[in-house]
Amino acid sequence: IMSKNFALIGAAGYIAPRHMQAIKATGNRLLAAFDPNDSVGVIDSHFPDADFFTEFERFDRHVDLRRRAGNGGQIDYVSICSPNYLHDSHMRFALRSGAHAICEKPLVLNPWNIDGLLEIERETGKHVNTILQLRLHPAIIALRERVRREQRSTKHEVELAYVTSRGHWYLQSWKGDSKKSGGIATNIGVHFFDMLHYIFGELQTNLVHQRNDTKAAGYLEYENARVRWFLSVDIEDVPTLLRESGQRTYRSITVDGEEIEFSGGFADLHNRSYEEILAGRGFGLEENRTAIETVATIRTGSIVPAVDVARPPLKR
Ligand code: NAD
Repeated sequence: IMSKNFALIGAAGYIAPRHMQAIKATGNRLLAAFDPNDSVGVIDSHFPDADFFTEFERFDRHVDLRRRAGNGGQIDYVSICSPNYLHDSHMRFALRSGAHAICEKPLVLNPWNIDGLLEIERETGKHVNTILQLRLHPAIIALRERVRREQRSTKHEVELAYVTSRGHWYLQSWKGDSKKSGGIATNIGVHFFDMLHYIFGELQTNLVHQRNDTKAAGYLEYENARVRWFLSVDIEDVPTLLRESGQRTYRSITVDGEEIEFSGGFADLHNRSYEEILAGRGFGLEENRTAIETVATIRTGSIVPAVDVARPPLKR
């Protein structure tokens, strides 16, 4: 197989090195990277020869020169690791530059952004792929197959609590700005809402019980499950004993009272995502629609109070 040429947007951030690693692990090369922030020394650990730009216009010129040179140096894929609200613009840039896009989650903030991108896919013949790595997690795939096999007449009862504490920087960064990140349910929850749809089918009901800068909770009903969910970035929501022993995260997903164990197996899911995308089995725009609709509704829907809002156990 011929190796592919990559460019990377958002190269100085937290998740970008995982993309550099995946580009390398799949036998491809990073030729150009862009980030308005120049703290990108990490590039040397992966692709010391890559060109780097802090201005979008110079990056654009470089990508365009490569495209027009027609000597095999054109960019085939643009990987996108920028803040969430910029994803759709960066995907348009990729496709209009004659490249496919590999975009971090959440693909976009609102469902109508997907429609605009579908049009550009049609115009350019290039495709959008997303990183929804939980769909590739062996435990999730096994659960999905079990649910499909069993074909129960009653819905599964699911409880999901995920607390991943963040320091004070979080609310000062773009991640704490709902206009830029979509808020916690979008930025952190989208993985889980996509996973629930993937396992339990079409979404039927979406109620929000609680929503603020650091936590959100609600109720979702799918074809095959009723789900009470809770998400938080507040350390106070980590159950006391765990917190006292130094733990900063708490994750529990139960199906009919049974804990789904999937703490392990996360390490190389970006590599796996790239393998699938390069083999033509990536997850595209339409596969993202339900999760994006879910988080957009959670962001804007009116709060429906409830007495039994999901919460992590206080003691543990
Ligand atoms: P980050 O803030 O660490 O990095 C974002 C980078 O984008 C920064 O280097 C910033 O300088 C750069 N940036 C800012 N404005 C830009 C612009 N106009 N053009 C290009 N780059 C710009 O954030 P992160 O944690 O690396 O998150 C990046 C993306 O990856 C987000 O969409 C996030 O949701 C996603 N993410 C995914 C996972 C996962 O498990 N799949 C984990 C973490 C983050």
